[in-house]
Amino acid sequence: MSAELQPDLCVIGGGPGGLAVALGATASGKSVVVIEKNALGGRRLTESIPRHVLLTASRALDSAPRAADFEIAVDDSQFDFGHIRQQIAGAVAAIAPNYSQARIEAANITVISGSGRFTGPDTCEAGGETIRARHFVIATGAVSRRLPIQGVDAVRPLDCAALSALDRPPERLIVIGADPGELALAQALRRFGSEVTILSAHALFAGEDEELAAPVRAAFARDGIVVHEGVRISRIEPRGSGVRVVLASPGYERPVAGSHVLLSAGTTPAVEGMGLAAAGVRYDEAGIETNARLATSNWRIHAIGAAAKGSQEDGAAEWHAGHVLRAILGLPGGNLRGKVPARIVWTSPPIGWAGASEAQARAAHRHICILRWPLAETERARIERQPSGHVKLITTRSGTILGAGIVGGRAEELVTLFTLAISKHMTANDIASIMLPYPALASAARSAGMTFRDEKSYVQFDRLLAAWNQMIERQAGEFRQMAGVLSGKARRMFR
Ligand SMILES: Cc1cc2nc3c(=O)[nH]c(=O)nc-3n(C[C@H](O)[C@H](O)[C@H](O)COP(=O)(O)OP(=O)(O)OC[C@H]3O[C@@H](n4cnc5c(N)ncnc54)[C@H](O)[C@@H]3O)c2cc1C
Repeated sequence: MSAELQPDLCVIGGGPGGLAVALGATASGKSVVVIEKNALGGRRLTESIPRHVLLTASRALDSAPRAADFEIAVDDSQFDFGHIRQQIAGAVAAIAPNYSQARIEAANITVISGSGRFTGPDTCEAGGETIRARHFVIATGAVSRRLPIQGVDAVRPLDCAALSALDRPPERLIVIGADPGELALAQALRRFGSEVTILSAHALFAGEDEELAAPVRAAFARDGIVVHEGVRISRIEPRGSGVRVVLASPGYERPVAGSHVLLSAGTTPAVEGMGLAAAGVRYDEAGIETNARLATSNWRIHAIGAAAKGSQEDGAAEWHAGHVLRAILGLPGGNLRGKVPARIVWTSPPIGWAGASEAQARAAHRHICILRWPLAETERARIERQPSGHVKLITTRSGTILGAGIVGGRAEELVTLFTLAISKHMTANDIASIMLPYPALASAARSAGMTFRDEKSYVQFDRLLAAWNQMIERQAGEFRQMAGVLSGKARRMFR
């Protein structure tokens, strides 16, 4: 073991989140060590980018019929799944330099290969080195959740890496679970030609707003995806070159045969085996406990991204990185209060949601308003011949936006408008008065905003109107009385 390293900051986990903190800290003059047990770049390079290339290819294939609407000949019989492998390799190669060891070391950061493990409140070991640092950041992300199903370890489930090594789409894919990310992938594979059967204990998209989830379920049915909800799996068995999943029903068993299995059980924070107890860091299987500044129960250790409890949203790690950096550098503004959660389900059509759900808004407010607008009513949708989907805004009685979502169109882009609007406490009227270039799908959000009727000002207006009527009636009575008096006087004068 070499001499103890004593940096200002030690980051455990060299994914996008950990590297963002490390690069920010070194740019501010801090000495930094990064510990990574696999490869720098984390799951972004190995999982997220391959998945997005596959989804993008599926969308491109999807748009072939629309090209035909414009009499543009697209021959999808030429579609070559093997070519996607090259596309994935190309995308990863284009993005990998952002996370390369050469770039990180050129920024004066020491990279240690190995698994980081705390041995005390301010000490960690990795790759034969001891690191005693003033600050630590845990950025270990998440790992796939294990399914407690008999035989699951005897088959080799597909992941993005295995999928992108295939020459053709899986012939008969069995998806176990209902994680929305994997469901999007399964739908893409169906569109590439795989037979897809989903086996889930729960309803698909149960965590999404029901009215936004319904069009996605309908698209799955249209695509010919077979869905079995509420099922219990008793075991999984290898079967020749394929696999057999046995469903347990009362009194009998039902086998489902497939060529491949995709586990869709979501992720769990990567916190095991890190010596967190030795460091005095409180955690459980849901992640590491942190305060609003992402500090753990040990003041010198912060946790970011999916490792921190309640931070499973995509994009959390890099957002947290900026906040933790401010806290470590002693700058103001490193507080997460006012965070607007946002998420995207990358299905076709996609779902985007920002802020509170309808149920959360109802629980927190006595009166809420729900505003909707169909995308089909925008001229952009008509030009593009994309009729489905709608925007939904949830506001307080006075119009402040609490939550907003969209199904269809470019939900992943439009949701950023809602995230900003909610974080800045904007109202439906603010959205209604945005100037937009023509033709924009975002005009559906503007139109939804325009449907808002401010109940408070309506009540005030009604009161004003009633007072106005009373005044007119009173004055009319006075005029009638005066006219009666005058006409009496006139009659007497001219009698
Ligand atoms: C299939 C798939 C699709 C995804 N799609 C999206 C998406 O669309 N959008 C999105 O924002 N996110 C997506 N994600 C999540 C994405 O991977 C994360 O947003 C991103 O990688 C988060 O970065 P991170 O730094 O927090 O964690 P990670 O990228 O998970 O990096 C953590 C790193 O820590 C290392 N590590 C763990 N434990 C230790 C230890 N004890 N010692 C040393 N090193 C350790 C790991 O090897 C890893 O390199 C997807 C993930 C998967 C699996």
